[in-house]
Amino acid sequence: MKLQQVSESCFAVLNEKNRVCDANSGLINLGGGVVIDTQSDLPHARRMIELFGKVWPGMPRRVVNTHEDSDHVWGNQLFEGAEIIAHRTVPDRMRHVADPHESQKLLRGAERLLPRLLLKAIHPGVLAIAKQLQQDYDFSGIELAFPTTVFDERHVLNLDGTEVHLIYVGPCHQVGDTIVHLPKERVVFAGDVIFRQCTPMGWTGTYEKWLQTLDLIIWLDPEVIVPGHGPVCGIEGAMEMKAYLEYVREESRRFFDRGLTSLQASKRIDFGPYASWRGPARLYANVERAYREFRNEPADAAWDTAKTFDAVYSVARAKGIAVEF
Ligand SMILES: [Zn+2]
Repeated sequence: MKLQQVSESCFAVLNEKNRVCDANSGLINLGGGVVIDTQSDLPHARRMIELFGKVWPGMPRRVVNTHEDSDHVWGNQLFEGAEIIAHRTVPDRMRHVADPHESQKLLRGAERLLPRLLLKAIHPGVLAIAKQLQQDYDFSGIELAFPTTVFDERHVLNLDGTEVHLIYVGPCHQVGDTIVHLPKERVVFAGDVIFRQCTPMGWTGTYEKWLQTLDLIIWLDPEVIVPGHGPVCGIEGAMEMKAYLEYVREESRRFFDRGLTSLQASKRIDFGPYASWRGPARLYANVERAYREFRNEPADAAWDTAKTFDAVYSVARAKGIAVEF
């Protein structure tokens, strides 16, 4: 993990491996301090606190969660007494999509021989992601710490005269998606609306809303964007995400019209210029989302995560590339 200053008062902690769970955190070093997103486990959250500690005078008074996914909320408990701010949907969604016990069980299962063999036979993708996570993560001790302040469309903080706008943009990648904009410093913390140099994975939301949100970010004209995953960028990061989503939706439509399943389509769609992004086989999740829209299914239709990881695994195998999430 590394610390990077992105403007006069804004900083980022970046997880440079940029694989699944390697989320970024942000810091606005004004008004008692605001941390944006809190990492995937307690060791990473502690390391983030240590890195930000080089520039802040004390533990920050506020935390913002850009959405409900585990890799953005699992360090919340270390900010005792802080105000935790998120969109109104986030507390309830965290209970559904960020239950730490599920992931703890998964990693424990993958450590022991019999459950491992069983997993390999039934869910090879689940075993593969568990093995990858074991290399970097330790989910023990995580307890959900929920937002204490929720908002609907917009929440504005005034930090020593600098305005910080929390803008609700979901559901595009996930239900609670929020971006954090500092007009004066021309910085946007984009959460998982932007993945940089790694393949996005969206869960609940629509292509339309996601593309609109990327247009909004471009319109805000930031000098610096801190994405949810991957290195810091400018608006070219938003433009590339748009191009990726449009490409995948178009390719998906072609194969959908020919009657192929989302998995068959994912094995055939050329990665194109995105082959060098981390985890290109995660393409499957984006194809599946497009298929759901073509079938007019609701944006909040449930995901079978085991099936999704198995599909990503089989796309990687079919393409002859390393299995990586
Ligand atoms: Zn994330």
